[in-house]
Amino acid sequence: MLLSKNDLELINYINQQTENIQELTSDLIKIPTENPPGNNYREICNFLETRLKSSGFETKMIRATGSLGDSDANPRWNLIARHEVSRSGECIHFNSHTDVVKAGNGWSMDPFGGIIKNGRVYGRGACDMKGGLATSIIAAESFIKLFPNHRGAIELSATTDEESGGFSGVAFLAEKGYFNAGKVDHVIIPEPLNKDRICLGHRGVWWAEIETKGKIAHGSMPFLGDSAVMHMSAVLAEMETTLFPLLMDRKSNMPVVPEKARTASLNINSIHGGEKEQIFDYSGLPAPCVADRCKIIIDRRFLIEETLWDVKREIKGLMEKVKAERPGFKYEITDLFEVLPTMTDKDAKIVRVVDEAIQKICNTKPEYVISPGTYDQKHIDRIGQLKNCIAYGPGILELAHQPNEWVGIDDMLKSCQVMALSIAKILN
Ligand SMILES: [Zn+2]
Repeated sequence: MLLSKNDLELINYINQQTENIQELTSDLIKIPTENPPGNNYREICNFLETRLKSSGFETKMIRATGSLGDSDANPRWNLIARHEVSRSGECIHFNSHTDVVKAGNGWSMDPFGGIIKNGRVYGRGACDMKGGLATSIIAAESFIKLFPNHRGAIELSATTDEESGGFSGVAFLAEKGYFNAGKVDHVIIPEPLNKDRICLGHRGVWWAEIETKGKIAHGSMPFLGDSAVMHMSAVLAEMETTLFPLLMDRKSNMPVVPEKARTASLNINSIHGGEKEQIFDYSGLPAPCVADRCKIIIDRRFLIEETLWDVKREIKGLMEKVKAERPGFKYEITDLFEVLPTMTDKDAKIVRVVDEAIQKICNTKPEYVISPGTYDQKHIDRIGQLKNCIAYGPGILELAHQPNEWVGIDDMLKSCQVMALSIAKILN
């Protein structure tokens, strides 16, 4: 692919940003934004606001007051920064989540030390996704430095709680209109999908609680009661023998990675039957009772080829089948959470632009992928009604949420060049 004079200027400039990109990533890791409970969101927003103001951005801090997770002890603060010189032109937006999952065990270094070693930055959130956040900031800053009078607008947002659903972050901002068409035209989410892959979307998800009901009685005389646990075991057996094979055979045209996730799936996230679990400091034995209720939480991941209506009907059908076979069988299904699958069109402008930039920087055609689980694109798609959204960023997905998480500095520089060339293509 032929590089233009502007491309070359950006590439050369970013090649000199090694220190800048590793320092920024390290500084972000040093602010421990573990979620739960959602620590230091205000601190990381303050840090980013100071940085982006000095690069010429207008910034706005927004607390998602009253949203899921927000409290005075752990307020949910988000930041939006916008760089706009003239009104004409489109807006390209980079959205990163600032929260990281718990550091957990198994680290051979301080997870919040931001250690730079052997061409890598280590720490919780290095790849998921403070490296991506730093990369998009440096891409935007480099572009602005070289083309201060660009058309259109660049936006960066740093948002909360992606790891726990994103309700106080992207969902909150989308509800307030920050992702509306006209304000934003293209969105890149720099999740760690690797420097030469474009993620177009994700499978759908439906969480529900299924409860079977029974009749309580003394555990020494089970014939006087009706065990909800035994009813549930019939449900689980039915799922394993008839439903699971069916789901595994249901293949998708969505390029989901890893490839084993290219089918429909169902997981039992939890199960509980009978009396409440004993409180942790209780050392006696539980009273003997026949279980009068049993609950499971199901986690059904579905494909773009399936409808949510069919997914729900299939479970209902399975429950009815068990009911017909078991006298006294009673059940209830409660919806908990649902997200439709989404897949951005390969011909969308943002996809074409990033595809071309990857070919220029990495000398290879990008791989198109779909995420098995959802991420913040779901809110941009459903609430913001914005279809021009992809995930693209440095880092290796398999390292996310693991001890000794890291991001490669070279990968960040390459991704940074891809992002900067994409900004240039859209705004120049
Ligand atoms: Zn992430």
